[in-house]
Amino acid sequence: MIDLHCHSIFSDGTDTPEALAALAEAAGLRALALTDHDTLAGLERFLACQPRVSTELVPGVELSCRYLGRVLHVLGLFVDPGNPAFQARIEDMRERRVERNRLMVERLQAMGVAITWEEVAALAPTDSISRTHFARALVKHGAAGSPQDAFRRFIGDEGPAFVPLRDLTPRDAATWIREAGGVSVVAHPGRFSHRSFRWEEAMADLKAQGLQGLEAHYPDYGPMEHRYFLELADVLGMVPSGGSDYHGGHKPGQHLGVGTGSLHVPDGVLDLLKGLRRGETV
Ligand code: AMP
Ligand code: MN
Ligand code: MN
Ligand code: MN
Repeated sequence: MIDLHCHSIFSDGTDTPEALAALAEAAGLRALALTDHDTLAGLERFLACQPRVSTELVPGVELSCRYLGRVLHVLGLFVDPGNPAFQARIEDMRERRVERNRLMVERLQAMGVAITWEEVAALAPTDSISRTHFARALVKHGAAGSPQDAFRRFIGDEGPAFVPLRDLTPRDAATWIREAGGVSVVAHPGRFSHRSFRWEEAMADLKAQGLQGLEAHYPDYGPMEHRYFLELADVLGMVPSGGSDYHGGHKPGQHLGVGTGSLHVPDGVLDLLKGLRRGETV
């Protein structure tokens, strides 16, 4: 069993990279990828655990993109965190995130929610601040009843206080990832848009833009959706990747490897990803 998607305190998870590596070992995972949002900051500490754990630790990232006017996440697996061009591109994303976060505070204040930058920053364990921390801050401030309520009323993808991150296209994300030695994967396509969105054409388009895999195994999927994405990956010749998207305490009930209990990403996916890096096809 492997898990190719999780988050640490360097984005919006609650576990340190060291804790994630130890949890992976305890769960008996053959491999774990750390895929924090738009940052490589946790990877050095994560990879430094490698001699101590038998789980293969895979460097990754989850890039926030825009596609068809919506948020689309693209995972980069096996990216080289020491690649200078990639680091510069990610630094640009980080600056844009800081700017975006300031704009979101202004939007909330304009809506009559007197929340401050300090209140939001206080809830983030590192200087990487995401909407997850905004959601917590809005609850603490008394403006929302729960994080879900905060997303629904204020900061969700359709919310009035949401400001998107920079307009990174999936094509550019795929190029950045390839040039950093990694494999690009469309993250949780089932969470994109409404559930009835038909992916055939859009995924073929993304493949033509350079995306090499899609998350076919994901905790939120029902049996039909799981089968649908496995078949889509098969038909298009894309890697059927997958992972728990574990965020620690920010997503209660989700565990590394097994998700909510029934997730199982086959070990063979790892070999397919490594094959792609060597220039093989799926
Ligand atoms: P950001 O990268 O700062 O725009 O924040 C995106 C993160 O917020 C996602 O990775 C999720 O962890 C979380 N998120 C986005 N929308 C929702 C939602 N509707 N409910 C719960 N969490 C969400
Ligand atoms: Mn997240
Ligand atoms: Mn995501
Ligand atoms: Mn994620």
